[in-house]
Amino acid sequence: MRPLDYLQSRLSAILADLEAIVVRESPSHHQAGLEEVAHWIDQQFRPFGAVTQTQTPNGPLLRVEVAGRGKRVLVLCHYDTVHPIGSFQPLWRVEGERAYGPGVYDMKGGIVQLLWALRASRELGLGWPQLELLFTPDEEVGSHASRAAIEEAALRSDAVLVLEPPTGNGDLKVARKGVGQYRLTAQGKAAHQGVEPEKGINAIVELAHQIPRVVALEDPERGTTLGPNVVRGGTASNVVAAEAWVEVDLRVWTRAEAERVEAALRALRPALPGASLRLEGGLNRPPMEPTEASMSLFEMARRIGEALGLHLGPGRVGGGSDGNFTAALGIPTLDGLGLFGEAAHQPTENVHIPQIPLRTALLCGVLEEMAR
Ligand SMILES: [Zn+2]
Repeated sequence: MRPLDYLQSRLSAILADLEAIVVRESPSHHQAGLEEVAHWIDQQFRPFGAVTQTQTPNGPLLRVEVAGRGKRVLVLCHYDTVHPIGSFQPLWRVEGERAYGPGVYDMKGGIVQLLWALRASRELGLGWPQLELLFTPDEEVGSHASRAAIEEAALRSDAVLVLEPPTGNGDLKVARKGVGQYRLTAQGKAAHQGVEPEKGINAIVELAHQIPRVVALEDPERGTTLGPNVVRGGTASNVVAAEAWVEVDLRVWTRAEAERVEAALRALRPALPGASLRLEGGLNRPPMEPTEASMSLFEMARRIGEALGLHLGPGRVGGGSDGNFTAALGIPTLDGLGLFGEAAHQPTENVHIPQIPLRTALLCGVLEEMAR
């Protein structure tokens, strides 16, 4: 039996698992919810290998070692979602060809898909490589507590597969922009606005000079963007503002661009006499830049997809994932292997049910190929 036929015949059981993980709500930082999902994952994956749970400040991190042959492959999944408790009413809903729920697409669907790829492969006697599965609790909030574990695991692996959703048109992801988060603070001097305003130095005015300089560092041709998206300053309308800051989101396709922008941000000088500037932050996720090795990984998946009737292109997206970390270490990384759907991070987030067996069969094929 082909994996696709097996998976098609098990679709209602797959949907039941998807419902089970989705109704256990697990927004980032919600300790009780995260623990409940971690427990569920632990139970499901236990038949495939030893599960270890490590407590991090952001929730449990699960690691499963699955014995196999051939290459050593790291599979990355996160089980936190962006959806606060109660954002979906009802929590789980199937309507037509779509299943709706918090995190169903980003990326609890990928976790269930991985589970069923292993079940199908075992049932049908297909091979898989030596696998290390990581389930992390904080991808949606920057992976600060998981990053070190992800990087350590990547360094002992030959390749990394990421079960984040594919692009909007179903392509896999071979490139992701790097993400930088900066805070530029202008320091001035407080004074009474009515009595002696000339003794003050207005930090908001200083910042107003700087923001256009920040935005001028964008390079549309190279895809480099800078978003000054949060700004705060001052204390009261009758006090000259002593301090103001802006938070800037940076997106870049290449490390070279990140370095250019960061150097320019550091080189900003105050416009007002007596004012000073301070820059904090840095590149949170380095760019995932395609390499020859990651493109041959993509090519392999594309061929397997083609045989299933899936036409997969090499997608490039602006959003980051944990694949950014592993790609930046030079480990061939293929992202976007998760379920097809739409509306990630939105209250209408959903997966396309007819593609669940197809995308899962694709994963079976990729795993089998990597066991050679
Ligand atoms: Zn995600």
